Amino acid sequence: MTTARAYAAQDASSPLAPWTFSRREPGDKDIELSVRWCGICHSDLHQARNEWGASTFPMVPGHEIVGTVTRVGKKVKKFKVGSTAAVGCVVDSCRKCVNCKRGLEQHCLTRVSFTYNCVEQDGKTVTQGGYSDKLVVDEGYAFTVGGKHPLERIAPLLCAGITTYSPLKRLGTRKGTKVGVLGLGGLGHMAVKIAAAMGAEVTVFSGSPAKKADAKRLGAHEFVLSKESDKAAGRMDLIIDTVSADHDLNQALGWLRTEGTLVLVGAPPKPQPVSAFSLIGGRKRLEGSGVGGMKETQEMLDFCLKKGALADVEVVGYPQVNQAYERLLKGDVRYRFVLDNTTL
Ligand code: NAP
Ligand code: ZN
Ligand code: ZN
Repeated sequence: MTTARAYAAQDASSPLAPWTFSRREPGDKDIELSVRWCGICHSDLHQARNEWGASTFPMVPGHEIVGTVTRVGKKVKKFKVGSTAAVGCVVDSCRKCVNCKRGLEQHCLTRVSFTYNCVEQDGKTVTQGGYSDKLVVDEGYAFTVGGKHPLERIAPLLCAGITTYSPLKRLGTRKGTKVGVLGLGGLGHMAVKIAAAMGAEVTVFSGSPAKKADAKRLGAHEFVLSKESDKAAGRMDLIIDTVSADHDLNQALGWLRTEGTLVLVGAPPKPQPVSAFSLIGGRKRLEGSGVGGMKETQEMLDFCLKKGALADVEVVGYPQVNQAYERLLKGDVRYRFVLDNTTL
């Protein structure tokens, strides 16, 4: 075993604080990563505060991870010591079920090992995330990062990027597709950049008037305040809903054209009511989407690097992580906090 230093939540109500724990020694197919940057996703906050239920503690959050490879197992092919590697929301899966074979490892039918607040394939070792100085992972669940880019702006792609890229791609976004993005936060700002890079006409639906200029700068064609959204009714081909809290899904369904699709990626802790009539009128679809598979995540990284669709970030040190959580809750970040792991 090897010792890792981290910031962890010890329970649902205490602030994150320094903690030390053990990680496995790298096996034949594993890489060990010195984590350099880790994004703060709203899912980190939901889980550290047990807002979704079923959190286990101590918990080291973090699944937007970029770092340098420090050790490689003898069967590792993709990485060398010194390579840059990235890790997202999934660190293992059964690799045998139909979903794993289809590249949908995040929906493994046997057992998916999410990066933290979950267990390894042995069914008992608790996974711990990227708010730590090192990570050990099978190379099949790590991604290569080519070129010379500011790595802190790449870290958020590992969750915010893939979670929005995956449904945009699957629903056939291309030149002229009318894409709505509901909520301009970490996921929302990546949805705007990625949809615009795919050629879409993007409309941001937001509750924050102050974000209007940013929306345009990020690549949106239009900015609509949700409470003044009647003029947008019936126009969108698809909408990516990134909102983290209670909001009106029936209103969002009203912005879709006939047979349009509302994709929920935001995960509010409480159920959100949907009227049958919001779907029946216009034969509309409501669906969900969770992160992305391994092959698709590499594809998304390569796409975003080629198009220059990197995250807008504010770098923070670990002593400020609890303050960053409070600011995230208030929507006070443009648009993703990224932790500097040299401050651990
Ligand atoms: P975030 O940066 O906090 O962004 C959420 C945005 O939602 C805010 O910027 C705000 O945008 C809007 N919002 C917040 N509270 C609202 C309210 N009460 N009513 C209406 N709008 C509100 O969060 P994030 O990191 O992007 O994550 C967003 C959600 O996605 C979280 O629930 C997270 O857990 C979930 N998530 C899901 C997946 C997945 O695989 N499905 C992956 C990652 C994250 P405006 O200011 O523009 O209104
Ligand atoms: Zn996330
Ligand atoms: Zn599987």
